[in-house]
Amino acid sequence: MRFQTRLFIGGEFVDSAERGRIEVLNPHDNSTLAEVAEARPADIDKAVAAATDAFPAWRDTAAADRGRLLLRLADAIEANFEELAQIESLDTGHPIRDTRMLDVPRTAATFRYFGGIADKFHGSVIPVEKGFLNYVTREPVGVVGQIVPWNFPLMFTSWKMGPALAAGNCVVMKPAELTPLSSLRIAELMREVGFPPGVANIVPGYGNVAGQYLAEHPGVQKIAFTGSTATGRRIVQASAGNLKRVQLELGGKGANIVFDDADLKAAIGGGAFAIFHNQGQACIAGSRLLLHERIAEQFLDGFLKLAGSIRLGNPLDPATEMGPLTSMQHRERVLNYCKIAREQGGEILLGGEPPADRELAKGCYLLPTVVRAKPADRVCQEEVFGPFVTVTTFNDEDEVIAIANGTDYGLGAGFWTRDIKRAHRVARRLVSGMVWINCYKRVNPGSPFGGVRGSGYGRDMGFDAMTEYTTAKSVWVNVDAGIPPYYAR
Ligand code: NAD
Repeated sequence: MRFQTRLFIGGEFVDSAERGRIEVLNPHDNSTLAEVAEARPADIDKAVAAATDAFPAWRDTAAADRGRLLLRLADAIEANFEELAQIESLDTGHPIRDTRMLDVPRTAATFRYFGGIADKFHGSVIPVEKGFLNYVTREPVGVVGQIVPWNFPLMFTSWKMGPALAAGNCVVMKPAELTPLSSLRIAELMREVGFPPGVANIVPGYGNVAGQYLAEHPGVQKIAFTGSTATGRRIVQASAGNLKRVQLELGGKGANIVFDDADLKAAIGGGAFAIFHNQGQACIAGSRLLLHERIAEQFLDGFLKLAGSIRLGNPLDPATEMGPLTSMQHRERVLNYCKIAREQGGEILLGGEPPADRELAKGCYLLPTVVRAKPADRVCQEEVFGPFVTVTTFNDEDEVIAIANGTDYGLGAGFWTRDIKRAHRVARRLVSGMVWINCYKRVNPGSPFGGVRGSGYGRDMGFDAMTEYTTAKSVWVNVDAGIPPYYAR
């Protein structure tokens, strides 16, 4: 497999100014996949300068023409479907089954959605006093810095660059240091389909060096960040210098409630998808199972059987249902939460350790893990970000709403019931950016995605994302109003 390993700045692939390198590992066996150029401040300066130079022409390009380039990019992604699926599986450990079914098609779909929306998102005319015309245009923000994590690196190129470019901004995107390969392949495709130089710049680098510098940069007018809540706070501080706009998609601790009238077969399958897809490395993972006392044992019986039967293996094997975590360091973090759970009286019902299979011994694998715990325990409050789900029981609706809302987060939450009145009542009471009823983790390019409280602010996707990447300009015209009456002499 060939990988692009250089920084994408001003339409060219270039080495980093100081020749820094990042070693990119395959989480299946920790072998080296590639050495990628590491962006440092001098490179970020170059990328911001390229984006600044490209901005006036890109802003003034007809929206339909900006959209057409995004549509061509979506086509190019589909034309290179299998290669992108393999790059993403090798770099992140996502099973190839998932990258073929979800990551690559969703990336194309999201670029296509924003390609289509580019010339349909527009300003308005306000009905003001007679004699005046007041119209509002939506103007691009300017140069936008985008910082993304390692869990869905390919998809995030489209979530972030799609709306930003459609709205006429130029971007400097910093992928996570662990997983830069698919975004650099996207950079190649962007060049191929004809994006003007400097409109999009992609600069892998370390968070505390390149990321921090980008977040502080006075030439950047907005930072769009996806990542942990702790880093989100740092981004807000770093943005203060030039008061840049900030959009934060942060962590989550999704409740997944099973009421006693639920279709249990659907809830068991949906609950397993909610936490074990992508090895649980999803901000919207359903990482807290809240089970009504009456169905708890029956649910758990089926859930543990299902979780115990999930096929772990090499991500490139189409039969694999769960791959490795994305790094050894992250697996250690998740394993440490197993220790914390036990220390606080939690009971490990399944997993809690790496698999015994010797073929997987070199990789970052971890068994699906199910832990019985109390709502106040650290494992029920802190984001674990692995194939690790807590189980807690409840007796009534008020109690479970209090538990579900009882963390610092508010990203996604879901529940299973056959009672339509309860469905809408509970949806209203959950403090959460997204709610799923009898399903989990549904995402669509047209549907706003984001959280409340410690899960951040702002929305990816949909018309909301276009609003995030534009500023309203209100223009007043004296059409026929004469001079103001109070000075009319
Ligand atoms: P992280 O915050 O450590 O890193 C995310 C990105 O920020 C990386 O590119 C990293 O290099 C960069 N970074 C790190 N320190 C920085 C700094 N001081 N200044 C600027 N940039 C810096 O997060 P992670 O461990 O890579 O990702 C997992 C987290 O991402 C989880 O908390 C998860 O919930 C969250 N996430 C949120 C969403 C969402 O949409 N809400 C989606 C996916 C992941």
